[in-house]
Amino acid sequence: MIRREVLTIKLFSPDRVVFEPRSLDYPLGRKIYDYFEGTSTEIIKAPIQKISSIIPGTTEGQKYASGKKTLVVTVKKSLKFDVCKPSADFEFSLVTGCPASCEYCYLYTTQSSKPYLRTYVNLEEIFDSIKKHIVRNGNRLTTFEVASAGDPLAIEHITGSLARTIEFFGTLDNARLRVVTKFNNVEPLLGLKHNGRTRFRVSINSRYVIKNFEHNTASFDERIEAASKLAEAGYPIGFIVAPIMIMTAGRRNILNCLKSSGAELTWANRLNPSPSSSSSTGLLPSRRSSYWSVSPIPAWTWTRANAP
Ligand code: SF4
Repeated sequence: MIRREVLTIKLFSPDRVVFEPRSLDYPLGRKIYDYFEGTSTEIIKAPIQKISSIIPGTTEGQKYASGKKTLVVTVKKSLKFDVCKPSADFEFSLVTGCPASCEYCYLYTTQSSKPYLRTYVNLEEIFDSIKKHIVRNGNRLTTFEVASAGDPLAIEHITGSLARTIEFFGTLDNARLRVVTKFNNVEPLLGLKHNGRTRFRVSINSRYVIKNFEHNTASFDERIEAASKLAEAGYPIGFIVAPIMIMTAGRRNILNCLKSSGAELTWANRLNPSPSSSSSTGLLPSRRSSYWSVSPIPAWTWTRANAP
């Protein structure tokens, strides 16, 4: 059982935040500026081309650590979304990058030696683009993945943009939002008007893998508690187990973890009985075991559609 009283939420706090000048033309850009003003976080205004030279560090380790502690506030320019099979029809980003350091993360192949986070402030333009993609999809039920290039929940306490997006999807009859996360900062999302149109998949693994390979993410118990809260708030939820690590017998404890989580989530069968609409990694009908989406993809073939 989870000892709820000892669980805490570790909120990300960057050392520096860099505002691209245009970002301050948007309400969300100004809101983030206000959030950091007067705090110990260094505030810098600079164009995107200068970001890399601003982030300190001489050794590879220093550059990496400084990059992970840098948040860039910017405007999303390309609003044409990529296809994101099998997770969803399309993917878009509110955030790219992540403050965590999972040793197998595919993002390392897409980032420079200074892996800073970006957050986008032109939410209304992103929302317009979502509507256009639904129209282009013949107004059929269209699914969107928001966590394939980063984990928006990791900085939700700073941006609030995932909450805005969840409520936006709550107004759309023919669209569904998918969120995958390894974080547990779900409190700001619990009272939203989501209308059941956002499905969370909590990325999970054995305690051994989380502790030894998924640095600076929420613990196993924290993720299960977050999933419980989301389900109690009426969100469709699921779990993704990936990558599957091949372990020696003494460390092969994933089954025990799954069993203990199942015990915590028995009530979920009542809340979430319907099948996933279109994702092949979605949930099956109401049996406890059906809340698990166990990826057959081993670590060495880890793909973008399955991150974070
Ligand atoms: S796997 Fe996910 S949580 Fe881990 S570093 Fe990558 S994006 Fe972040």
